[in-house]
Amino acid sequence: MKEIIPPPPIVQNEQQQIQELFNKFVVPSYGRFDLTFKRGQGSYLWDVRGKRYLDLGGGIAVCALGHANPEITAALVEQSRELMHVSNLYYHAPQGRLAKKIVEHIAPGKVFFCNSGAEANEGLYKLARKFGHDEGRFEIVAATNSFHGRTLGGIAATGQDKVKKGFEPIMPGFRHVPYNDLKAVEDAISPATVAVLIEGVQGEGGITPAKPEYLLGLRKLCDERKLLLMIDAVQCGHFRSGRFQSYQRLLEGVDGGEAFLPDAISMAKSLGGGFPIGAFWVREPYGDLLGPGTHGTTFGGTPLGCAVALKIFEVIERDKLADNVRHLGDWLMAELLKLKNEFPQVISEVRGVGFLIGIELAERIPAFTGLDKAPSIQMVNRLHEAGLMTIPSGLRVFRLLPALNLTKSEAAEGLAIIRAEVKKLAA
Ligand SMILES: *Cc1c(COP(=O)(O)O)cnc(C)c1O
Repeated sequence: MKEIIPPPPIVQNEQQQIQELFNKFVVPSYGRFDLTFKRGQGSYLWDVRGKRYLDLGGGIAVCALGHANPEITAALVEQSRELMHVSNLYYHAPQGRLAKKIVEHIAPGKVFFCNSGAEANEGLYKLARKFGHDEGRFEIVAATNSFHGRTLGGIAATGQDKVKKGFEPIMPGFRHVPYNDLKAVEDAISPATVAVLIEGVQGEGGITPAKPEYLLGLRKLCDERKLLLMIDAVQCGHFRSGRFQSYQRLLEGVDGGEAFLPDAISMAKSLGGGFPIGAFWVREPYGDLLGPGTHGTTFGGTPLGCAVALKIFEVIERDKLADNVRHLGDWLMAELLKLKNEFPQVISEVRGVGFLIGIELAERIPAFTGLDKAPSIQMVNRLHEAGLMTIPSGLRVFRLLPALNLTKSEAAEGLAIIRAEVKKLAA
């Protein structure tokens, strides 16, 4: 008798299967888009169905050299063959070399390595507390609409209520005042104040660059009041502005701009191009404030992470990618402003610098009203349909944070897709 072969199980598609794993086994702390990716190459991504997307989101400003960059792969493989991890109880070359590289790009000082942006900022909070400890000063003045990460310290520092809700009591020691408002900072300073913390360009808050007079004014104020001026460059740093640090670009051609220097800078995102690594730089004479035993992390500055970050620096410098960001970023911005002028009923504002561009959608776009999803999410969804990845920012802004090696034709392709969607919304 012939064996009866059971019918094949209903074949679910790969996307459903993967999403089911998430639904069953992954903590649902993220609102995810209905996209499941399989591979990437340069500034393109492919989902599991084989659909191609132009990625102008860069994994939220992380993929500095795009996806599957062969030079990063080679650095990873080479270093992992030699030495992946030894712990911070010992010395090794890549960490020392990467620290030197970062210092050379900013100013004399020292670097601490960690694994993420929130953790880099935690280092800044501890640095500030150590700095003011003997005088009983501990309070940090930060900005409303800022974003500094999701740790308990990070949500305390962040100037947005939505990240704090449900996690009270919030860690004390932060005051929030409007961004780009020097007088508000001055008024918020108390005898307990020890530092001011701002983003060079507010990222999650909708892409708002610091004004030159704000930066210079903060420097003067911090000098007068003996406060540390700390910049969160997790999103806006690492050449994304067209210079290593955003303040360098924002202060170009401004009187006194060349002399500007913060006391500490946090970094992560593009630093590792997808390999998780964070860091903070602290200016002399504060480089030794955090002495032996005061701060640490197991994975901070591993040979592997540092080798990758060193390779990224090398490629950015060799290929003059900061200039690429500057020229293409200026061009993108100019084209988007034209689009805004053509369709003011859809785009109300375009802000940013280099490869940090925020496009603000107008209020009351007919196609977006009456639906429960924020206009930013609806726009990003439409662009996904059209094969373009961007990142929402708040309710009405979508962001472009592409790889630093984006080409002109890729930028033009992205622009054409945005133009087509904007045109449809204006109809
Ligand atoms: C992303 C981000 C952080 C948090 O970095 P994580 O790596 O997610 O912890 C902090 N600050 C800014 C400005 C950011 O954009």
